[in-house]
Amino acid sequence: MTVAYRIGKSLYLNITNKCPCACTFCLRSNGPGIGGSGSLWLEREPTADEIRESIRSHFSSDLREMVFCGYGEPTERLDTLLETADWIKRTWPGMPVRVNTNGLSDLIAGRPTAELFKGKVDTLSISVNTDDPAEYLAICRPKFGEKAYPALLAFAESAAKCVPAVVMTVVGEPVTPKDKQERISKICARIGARLRVRPFEPPTRKRDSAFAVAPYATWMAMMFLLPHTALSYAVRSAAAGAVLCACLFALFKSGGTKPRVPRAGAWALGIVCGLAVAAMWILPEYSAFYRRFMIIGDPSAAGPSPYDPAVCGWGLFAARLLGSGIVIAAAEELFFRHFLYRRLQRTDWRSGAAMRFDLQAFLWSVGLFALEHDRIAAAAAAGAAYTLVYIRRGFFAAFLAHAVTNLVLGAYVVATGMWRFW
Ligand code: SF4
Repeated sequence: MTVAYRIGKSLYLNITNKCPCACTFCLRSNGPGIGGSGSLWLEREPTADEIRESIRSHFSSDLREMVFCGYGEPTERLDTLLETADWIKRTWPGMPVRVNTNGLSDLIAGRPTAELFKGKVDTLSISVNTDDPAEYLAICRPKFGEKAYPALLAFAESAAKCVPAVVMTVVGEPVTPKDKQERISKICARIGARLRVRPFEPPTRKRDSAFAVAPYATWMAMMFLLPHTALSYAVRSAAAGAVLCACLFALFKSGGTKPRVPRAGAWALGIVCGLAVAAMWILPEYSAFYRRFMIIGDPSAAGPSPYDPAVCGWGLFAARLLGSGIVIAAAEELFFRHFLYRRLQRTDWRSGAAMRFDLQAFLWSVGLFALEHDRIAAAAAAGAAYTLVYIRRGFFAAFLAHAVTNLVLGAYVVATGMWRFW
């Protein structure tokens, strides 16, 4: 049974599965755990001794914080929570302690409780979600009914006088629009709390993995099944392009988000990275060392290209250019960066936590991407660059970088007749 589990440099403590709410967005309905936590459903509530033992066995000197947060409301076990927090403070003086709570501690205990956290807890993170009591009832569905929202605010106001930091949290757009965030921010200012807007994280459903893999799988299957002609390439591009559009639409729909115009920084980074990778891809061809060691086979011995407009016509050449510049660039970014890089880190790969840099996932995803190409070294450098762009600016920027590289490469091929790049 998982009592303590680590995420980054924080140790999370899962001390109960009880909760007086049934929030519509509760992570507990998505699966048995969070990331690599293991199942957070408890066989029974751990004793204070068992909690201490679990903390000791997970402790390491690089921990920066301990957080009471699991598959339940920690203040349901207020006495055990306070006893454990006190023990943490005595055992590791200076270790910050945070409690993630729904703020209904007073109603759960049937008495005022804020004062009890004094000296034991550094931060109370309270999930407030809205400024509207009726909406709170609808989305958090507390068993206490209409008493819940006023009690939450009263607890937060009292707590702000007893603990160093009270943070009220809401989920960002599209769940909480900007005007509502501003109204909640005013409530926070009035009661002495700070507002934290948590990024919206679309839930990861099993079918999302299929949507992320299907365009690339379609492309690869058709590559093996169809002959290598310009017409086949056009058919492959059209089929994989149709699957790609359907899957991107399904992913947006499943995440509850709408496509938005990318920011200027994403455009700039994507274009600069794409041009740099194109230059890196082409220039080493002039090096004998590169030709000798970095290219598997001998692409220059391939003979006349079926994609030369003089052979296939400009229409099929344009289909070839769009297929490599748009369709496969998007399908590969969707598979290698958006899915594989994140899935190697977490089962719930759509979580924002999988956007951070992870060396193991980076090396695996870049390595597999490189093995798909004949110019392995150049492809590894390209994959590394696209992954870093993805981590920094997201899917659109990585796709743009890849598309720019492939389109520049296509223009270079037709301008110079170096068909071995295709
Ligand atoms: S308060 Fe937390 S644990 Fe309880 S139902 Fe809501 S999200 Fe889930």
